[in-house]
Amino acid sequence: METSIQAISELYQKKGDLHYDGEGVSQLAHAWQCGQLAKESGVSPQLQLAAWLHDIGHLLSSKEGTPTSYGYDDHHEQIGGAYLAQLFSEEVSCPVLMHVNAKRYLVSTDPEYRKLLSPDSIRSLALQGGEMTLEECNQFVTMTFAQDAILLRKWDELGKNSELKIPAKEVVIACLTQLAQECI
Ligand code: FE
Repeated sequence: METSIQAISELYQKKGDLHYDGEGVSQLAHAWQCGQLAKESGVSPQLQLAAWLHDIGHLLSSKEGTPTSYGYDDHHEQIGGAYLAQLFSEEVSCPVLMHVNAKRYLVSTDPEYRKLLSPDSIRSLALQGGEMTLEECNQFVTMTFAQDAILLRKWDELGKNSELKIPAKEVVIACLTQLAQECI
């Protein structure tokens, strides 16, 4: 699918209600919460947009249901990263591409971090390669955008609050569209 702001907004309009087993929130609510956390952190619009769209690969997938519950890795970070790279700079696409490895890095280096993972994230961790070796950690952390990917990953865990009320779908998508326009 060709990347455009209209295509992104239609995707969230159509599939934003998607809700994986073991996650407390829909894809649209998760995207909005992660975007808000990024905005509150005062990061660049590009990293805010990456936070909003880091799971877009799940929406681009044609698989039904929750991939991890049938032992399938949908490689959503690669699908999403490649999709976003067609329209946006690396400041947007690379943290998205790297957010799964950021989880693997954090689990390997911070014993407390694993406790923050949702049941779906724990299931997918094993499918995504599990913990990194020391060598892999050292390699990951020196990559360009590693720090952005780590920040994004921490918002990812926090952005699953089922108690939080989010604005109407149209409002959320309008905010997303406006931010995406700023990032082109
Ligand atoms: Fe996520």
